Amino acid sequence: MIFSNTPRPEALKSLADVKHVPFWLDDPARPDPVSALTEGIKADLVVVGAGFTGLWTALMAKQADLARDVVLLEAGDAGCGASGRNGGFVAASLTHNFQNGLSRWPQELSRLIELGNKNLAGIEETIGQFQIDCDYIRSGELNLALEPHQLDDFREEQEEASQYGEKYILYDRDQVQAIVKSPLYFGGLLNPANGMVNPARLAWGLRRACLEVGVRLFENSQVTELEESRDSVVVKTHYGQVDAKHVALATNAFPPLLRRLSFYMVPVYDYALMTEPLSQSQRDSIGWYGREGLSDAANQFHYYQITKDGRILWGGYDAVYYPNNGVAPHLEHRPETFARLAGHFFQNFPQLTGLRFTHAWGGVIDTCSRYTAFWGKAYGGKVAYALGYTGLGVGASRFGAQVMLDLLDDKKTERTGLKMVKSKPFPFPPEPFRTPIINFTRWSMDQADRNHGERNLWLKTLDALGLGFDS
Ligand SMILES: Cc1cc2nc3c(=O)[nH]c(=O)nc-3n(C[C@H](O)[C@H](O)[C@H](O)COP(=O)(O)OP(=O)(O)OC[C@H]3O[C@@H](n4cnc5c(N)ncnc54)[C@H](O)[C@@H]3O)c2cc1C
Repeated sequence: MIFSNTPRPEALKSLADVKHVPFWLDDPARPDPVSALTEGIKADLVVVGAGFTGLWTALMAKQADLARDVVLLEAGDAGCGASGRNGGFVAASLTHNFQNGLSRWPQELSRLIELGNKNLAGIEETIGQFQIDCDYIRSGELNLALEPHQLDDFREEQEEASQYGEKYILYDRDQVQAIVKSPLYFGGLLNPANGMVNPARLAWGLRRACLEVGVRLFENSQVTELEESRDSVVVKTHYGQVDAKHVALATNAFPPLLRRLSFYMVPVYDYALMTEPLSQSQRDSIGWYGREGLSDAANQFHYYQITKDGRILWGGYDAVYYPNNGVAPHLEHRPETFARLAGHFFQNFPQLTGLRFTHAWGGVIDTCSRYTAFWGKAYGGKVAYALGYTGLGVGASRFGAQVMLDLLDDKKTERTGLKMVKSKPFPFPPEPFRTPIINFTRWSMDQADRNHGERNLWLKTLDALGLGFDS
């Protein structure tokens, strides 16, 4: 265990002036919401939720067939959910990471890697096509070893991944310190395939693209109920409704409109801080000029990005499940986690002591026991859903959207033929068992981090069953 959880005075001081709003959403470029749905209308396709999954679904449905009447309904404004408040890592992997894909779908992993690279290229193409100003950079993601045993794991992962054509780069202590300086780093493993982005700007760019291609967007329009009729589904909001031939559910970790989804997904809160911009001397003291996405290799890990204007986003570590699938605005503020994160930040970068945080926020992620999206249909194939990205959906949501469209169009494609797409994650137990089991699993992961990675019997059992809890 590297990080001390005892609150430190310099950490508490650094949080004195934070705004409790997601940094990315606190931007004058945030579009004014369009009006809510206040009447009864008809549509070919209704997409529920305007985060990345819903925005990609609506955009690609329209791009495939401009004559298709597509309505996008969003409870708040586009990008206000996880999509506008995340770490900005755009992973090429569709399987959460290489190791997770290898352990679950070794036979189709090469195909999944290829599809993931194609998916990321598709995101880049759309950014170019619609000239989305979102600070996107293909800088790679550098995973950092904080203990020698993690470096051994990296060596093994590099070797395995190379057999699948992945070109990871292993760095020793001196090499990694030449990229980014921290007294805690023993080495690192760079995946050069991944990118970094300002996620809210990407979401707003996709929102504009949707409007440009003719998607009918309604914000402040929470869907309260789906009601099946013979050839359609009625999608009801507080003040209006849409009679739709097809419905795509892209509601991520928010209370699902289909009860069955609660078995497969638990909402988990993840928290992050943003610093003020670093001065030139502060920047020189850490380096990090390549703007790689950084994370450490612990079970309870931190992830961090440096923005184009030199601020550091620092998040992760605590992944909090609130009883009874708790999701509510007040859960986005967790002072003890903000203090812990700030304390860890100055342990990681002691040379930045005195730097202040400007923003502190939380967001909810859709954790499932296999860490990757899952899909399915309901109401005789008129409704489809995609969720379960488990904290890594910025890139994978575009693929999730494509699969959802395949399912609604009843198309057999290379995507729908994948075992990953055809199977579901193992369900979580219901309450009252859900809370203690998740908390015991989190406690076990913390113990493993304190014990040089040594996993207890409970974690070993979950590993053997292919089950887990992650963020
Ligand atoms: C703090 C944090 C850090 C993260 N970091 C990363 C990262 O660095 N990289 C990465 O890949 N992933 C990360 N993630 C996860 C990533 O943000 C998500 O996987 C991704 O944004 C999912 O997009 P989505 O559209 O499925 O969900 P969301 O963006 O949550 O969108 C769902 C939308 O549905 C709307 N909605 C819900 N219910 C209804 C309803 N009934 N009616 C109408 N609208 C409804 C919500 O308002 C919301 O806008 C992070 C998440 C968090 C919270």
